[in-house]
Amino acid sequence: MHDVVIVGARVAGAATALLLARRGLRVLVVDRDRYGADTLSTHALMRGGVFLLSRWGVLDRIVEAGTPPIRETHFDFGADAVTVGIKPAHGVDALYAPRRTVLDRALADAAMAAGAEIRYGVRVTGLLRDESGRVAGVHGRDRAGAAFTARARLTVGADGTKSIVAREAGAGTLRTGAGCGAVVYGYWSELGADRYEWFYRPGHSAGFIPTNAGEACVFAGVPASHLPRGDLRATYDRLLAVTTDGAGGRLARARPPGRLHTWIGRPGYVRQAHGPGWVLVGDAGSFLDPLSTHGITDALRDAETLARSASLDEFATTRNRVIGTTFDVVDRVAAYGWDLPRLRTDLLELSRAMSAELDLVAS
Ligand SMILES: Cc1cc2nc3c(=O)[nH]c(=O)nc-3n(C[C@H](O)[C@H](O)[C@H](O)COP(=O)(O)OP(=O)(O)OC[C@H]3O[C@@H](n4cnc5c(N)ncnc54)[C@H](O)[C@@H]3O)c2cc1C
Repeated sequence: MHDVVIVGARVAGAATALLLARRGLRVLVVDRDRYGADTLSTHALMRGGVFLLSRWGVLDRIVEAGTPPIRETHFDFGADAVTVGIKPAHGVDALYAPRRTVLDRALADAAMAAGAEIRYGVRVTGLLRDESGRVAGVHGRDRAGAAFTARARLTVGADGTKSIVAREAGAGTLRTGAGCGAVVYGYWSELGADRYEWFYRPGHSAGFIPTNAGEACVFAGVPASHLPRGDLRATYDRLLAVTTDGAGGRLARARPPGRLHTWIGRPGYVRQAHGPGWVLVGDAGSFLDPLSTHGITDALRDAETLARSASLDEFATTRNRVIGTTFDVVDRVAAYGWDLPRLRTDLLELSRAMSAELDLVAS
């Protein structure tokens, strides 16, 4: 019997485990994946995320892993461009974009150091319920096929977009987006990228995200319905050429990725956050299109908000309020229905929402 069982040991699950274990709760985390495995995601952190990693004492690990500090964001709109410095606020004077192999591992290690138990290779297949119907834990199987059961007072779904906890608990959908972008990305060497660079053209986007090992994650985005089938490499090269204009010759001089990753897209959503004996954090509870580069920060914020809330209702109210301000604007950006003036207005609104979020988590 545990106080809390968490399904999913990545950013949402490991961070929640870290904070609840530090509060003295007996926490068990299970994940079907391996410790330190990569996942389908670029990984640009926003201010709120960096602030929380710093507050929890995890940022040092990210820096020690050679993750470069990012001190500027450059927005390229084709006809003009804007560079915004990262103004120090709440002790954050740089952003970071650690590979998920670095970030998820650092959070899992911190959770285990705080006393949480993490079991990898366990696939949850359903929820346990008590006589009243209240969720009372999970059941599943380990890699060897052995049955697995864990009872707990609270079951946390941190199991991503296809959350089995959300499905089995019957979490309702509060909001569904209409915008839906597809993304192709890979890791470049010798690109000379030392800041976030976001490129926007009507119907296209791209980004350079400096990360570990001297590499930059370079993505190209289009509306999901416009992702061409066929030769992925040719598509990626063409999208980057159209959207970045070759980035002043830098792409031609850099070493391109050996492997590409594709996200075919899904619309954003907000699910009911909790019910008797269960709660959802991270992508299990809400999902914004990746073009927001905000999902990891959302997941860390959920962990912090849940650990601080006096009740699950309070957690849900805070989460819904914060997402309420960003959901519509991200949905519009992800729909690619914008012209550049409209996009700039939306990006400014998003930036204001992110500042408000930082104030909230830092308060
Ligand atoms: C293409 C793409 C690019 C992105 N780029 C960015 C970005 O630049 N910045 C940003 O902040 N966000 C980005 N995101 C969003 C970000 O990846 C997610 O918001 C984040 O991963 C959510 O973390 P999570 O812990 O909630 O879920 P996940 O990272 O999805 O982790 C869920 C975990 O649950 C486990 N699990 C699932 N089901 C079960 C089960 N039945 N039993 C046991 N374990 C289970 C999985 O193995 C997994 O380890 C991007 C997403 C995509 C798709």
